[in-house]
Amino acid sequence: MTKPLAILALTLIGALPVLAQQPAGKPEDTEVWTPVPKIVTPGATNAAPPSDAIVLFDGKNLNEWVSSADTTKPAGWVVKNGVLTVNKKAGDIQTKRRFTNYQIHLEWRIPVNVTGSGQARGNSGLYVGALPDGGYELQILDSYDNKTYVNGQAGSVYKQYIPLANAMRKPGEWQVYDVIWTAPTFNADGSLKSPAYLTALHNGVLVENHVQLKGDTKYIGTPEYKAHGPLPIRLQAHGDPSPPISFRNIWLREL
Ligand code: MG
Repeated sequence: MTKPLAILALTLIGALPVLAQQPAGKPEDTEVWTPVPKIVTPGATNAAPPSDAIVLFDGKNLNEWVSSADTTKPAGWVVKNGVLTVNKKAGDIQTKRRFTNYQIHLEWRIPVNVTGSGQARGNSGLYVGALPDGGYELQILDSYDNKTYVNGQAGSVYKQYIPLANAMRKPGEWQVYDVIWTAPTFNADGSLKSPAYLTALHNGVLVENHVQLKGDTKYIGTPEYKAHGPLPIRLQAHGDPSPPISFRNIWLREL
């Protein structure tokens, strides 16, 4: 073979596999046109609820909430100037409604005059599923220059998952949680069918990435699963002596 012919032959051989890889069919074969996702009108800002949200607190009242200690009683926290502030004496509050899988938006603020250290500094909590003896807690705490065990700082799934980052703003500034919660499911005999998963963004920063919960939150001991159905959402009135924290713009979309 002459040199030019050899080059031509090699070029053709080289092209063969490419030709063989051309997939059969048309691009349209893999296009999906239904079901069409429903239209949801987003809020004017990311804090404002989208059109299909259940608004749990809009700055006006606590109509969606009750006392956790006695769910026949109203939630005894303070609503003033569009802001909800913990009343530690009144204890935890929880939603009247129960939920399974959802995304929630919640804003919280550590007061500028916060005191204390470690877990005793602006401690609260978002229980994405509230059980009578606890539940599943995403920690709320002042973690701006405040050392504590890392699986108990802001953005942790308390004593289960360390946040991927510390995205904390200073006391006095509003913090934002956007959380996606997939509730656990249970078999008819009460055994676990599928575990819970949680994804959380703190001030727009991913802090928990689809973590698989080991069970409910335990202050002492090992998490465990006990069968339950849809659950309320609870906000914690922690017993530490630091000044109470505040909340605003709480809304949720069921999934
Ligand atoms: Mg807490």
